[in-house]
Amino acid sequence: MIPRLLRHGAGRARAKRTAQFATPRLQRQSLPRPVEGAALPVGGLNDNTCRSPESTHLCYTRGRETLMFKLRLASTLLLAAIGAFAAAQVTTTHLLDQLSVPIYRDLLDNRLFTRMGHNRGYGQHHDPCRDFIEARYRSYGLNVRLHPFLLAGNTYYNVVAVLPGRVFPDQQYILIAHFDTVNNPGADDNGTGTAALLEVARIAAEYRFERTIIFIASDREEDGMKGSAAYANEYRNDDIRGVINIDMIGYRPSGNAAHIYGRPASDPFKFALRDAILQYTDLVVAVGGELNRSDHAPFEAVGKQAAFLIERWWEQNPHYHQQTDSTETPDYIDYEYAVKMTRGAMGLLVDRAGLLPTFLPRGFVVTRGAPGFGTITEMYDSDDRTLEVRAVKPFEIAAPSAAIETWTEASSQSATEITLAVESRSTGLPCRQSVELYDFQAGGWVVLDTRFVGSNDQRLMLDVSANATRFIQPGTRQVRARIAANDWGIPVVGWSYHIDRVNWIVR
Ligand SMILES: [Zn+2]
Repeated sequence: MIPRLLRHGAGRARAKRTAQFATPRLQRQSLPRPVEGAALPVGGLNDNTCRSPESTHLCYTRGRETLMFKLRLASTLLLAAIGAFAAAQVTTTHLLDQLSVPIYRDLLDNRLFTRMGHNRGYGQHHDPCRDFIEARYRSYGLNVRLHPFLLAGNTYYNVVAVLPGRVFPDQQYILIAHFDTVNNPGADDNGTGTAALLEVARIAAEYRFERTIIFIASDREEDGMKGSAAYANEYRNDDIRGVINIDMIGYRPSGNAAHIYGRPASDPFKFALRDAILQYTDLVVAVGGELNRSDHAPFEAVGKQAAFLIERWWEQNPHYHQQTDSTETPDYIDYEYAVKMTRGAMGLLVDRAGLLPTFLPRGFVVTRGAPGFGTITEMYDSDDRTLEVRAVKPFEIAAPSAAIETWTEASSQSATEITLAVESRSTGLPCRQSVELYDFQAGGWVVLDTRFVGSNDQRLMLDVSANATRFIQPGTRQVRARIAANDWGIPVVGWSYHIDRVNWIVR
């Protein structure tokens, strides 16, 4: 978020912004009581209730009271129940439930240089922060590139990660957050958005979508949205269907509200973001108008739909562009709130990108070794839930020490592509792991991958597109996988193998 002086079109923006807040579209549900008076400074609104539908003030929507909503909710629950019991199919909510406050907090507090004295502006922490983001994207298995642009004769880089769509790869949705600061720690502005970007990328990277998702950690926003402007201009002919900009989402002195801004032309996307926040979180939402002070604006300037998500009290943030905008400032950043804001944005992103049908195991059997604790049939919501298999000694040389077979039921009889996702680790010495799918046409197992797996989580996304239908059993639509680990016959006391996650993505 940049100060008023730097924003584009500063001369007319104030009047325009006020006008936007007065549009009738803003009062849907009657919740907050508006501050009396016409000027309507954005942050001067109370989180109370609008008195009447005729009010022209910015109102907060908590759209849960209508009959339509109840009907929608009932049908959603019904569909969710059918999905859960009939096919163990993964939903948007399953992905959102993986957002982790501890991981988010670790990113913000410990990785993004947000402590007192840190400087991601033109100081020493700018480049290390950019490098960290790039490395973190890569660790999630995303395609990463540095997008260069020039500012005052120097080259800077947006860090761009791409999750290619499998059905409509040309159709793109962008999630953007700037990582640079005004030579301060920038914990809220915009460590909070950068952590959100990485947290969404971490989870999304484990799934497949119809459309392409692009994650942009932008640079030099504080110099007047230079990085995002360079990107938007360079890729203005891309089929960018929507841009969510997250900038300052961690300051919450009171209330439980989100603000969304953008030009009138972005209204469909802005209101879609509002609806996603209402659907997936307990936040109330106010939708405002044009506010050309962050990275969504350059995309709007080239005709794209964009929505700017920001904390409700940003105008009152006493640490805005101060050295005290630091995670070490007491009682400042509200991590739970920031993750809630992230959840709303991610909900829209996942729904728009189109999650491909994804199936959890219906069951599993330990075929080698001794089952320890845990299961793999309901692990989508946490990395910490795991199936432990202990090696049984003595053992046959070169036979796997631990192995499981697991299966699910696809929703169709045929597929153009099957992706098997596996996350696993071993305790102690690394083991040799093999992952196989059962070929029902040939009547045998097909090895998809072999590798060493150590004590760090190993995440695999194994895509099979050559005659993928052979892996679906005719009639039952069953899909089977076999995962085995060999500890090389070295007797290690307490060695065990852990599978955190298995799922199949079928299209
Ligand atoms: Zn700023």
